Amino acid sequence: MTVRLALPNKGRLEQPAIDLLRQSGMSFETADRTLAVPVRNMPVELLFVRADDIPELVADGVAELGITGRDLVEEVGLQVEVLTALGFGRCRLTAAVPERSPITNLEAFTGARVATSHPRTAQRFFDDKGIAITPVPLHGSVEVAPKLDVADAIVDLVSSGSTMMINGLRPVVTVLESEALLIGSGGRSSVAGSIATMAQAVVAARRKRYMLMNAPADRVAEIERIIPGIEAPSVVPLAHNGMVAVHSVVDADDVWQVLPELEGIGASGILVLPIQQMIP
Ligand code: AMP
Repeated sequence: MTVRLALPNKGRLEQPAIDLLRQSGMSFETADRTLAVPVRNMPVELLFVRADDIPELVADGVAELGITGRDLVEEVGLQVEVLTALGFGRCRLTAAVPERSPITNLEAFTGARVATSHPRTAQRFFDDKGIAITPVPLHGSVEVAPKLDVADAIVDLVSSGSTMMINGLRPVVTVLESEALLIGSGGRSSVAGSIATMAQAVVAARRKRYMLMNAPADRVAEIERIIPGIEAPSVVPLAHNGMVAVHSVVDADDVWQVLPELEGIGASGILVLPIQQMIP
């Protein structure tokens, strides 16, 4: 049976979602902008649709799996299973006000008109805090709503914060932290299970590097000290007496710190390689 996987047909999540599936081992064309694309080497059909339609398509079972933003899943509010967070499309849904607004804290939003393309999420957030707001649902250009005096505040997605700054807006409180998710409709087939495992293996691998080096055998303990969180390094004797090769997996974020220290204790021929997939 073919598994349908819905993914965004445009916007910020489209290319990273395609890259993730290719790195997971799926082979497919994206040249012609068709709705449904078969995967050559797996019983999978990719459904390219709007990111904000994906939670509903998955909840309805039209697609067994989907890739979309956590913000969109929360907004639709339907029952879908989060299989794994994918580590891209990171952003925050932030409540912000014009720089000169008297609103400086959460309580001061009481009675505010809040422009947002996430009205349900915004309403739920303020309701939970016991603060009554009036959502002003908009599909785009949310950040100009206060200038047009259709709202006193906004709740909008931010990654760097520069768009808000350019529009003279001051962030006050984070409503939701978002990133891309792999979601499922529950009761999955084994193919869907394999896709989830492959995606997890790619996400885990992206945070890690494979490191190889040659070092004096009596320095192995120091290498273990230098590389934080090193898990059981493989130590292989070399033809030259007293030298070993050390292989290990390190956090990608630590590499820049670790390399000079390793060199300092006499390691040489250090190689840092990307990992395609990793099941810890
Ligand atoms: P878009 O690219 O505007 O169609 O947004 C699609 C999804 O990308 C959003 O629902 C978020 O999950 C995600 N996203 C990540 N970063 C941002 C950002 N800075 N602004 C808007 N959306 C973002």
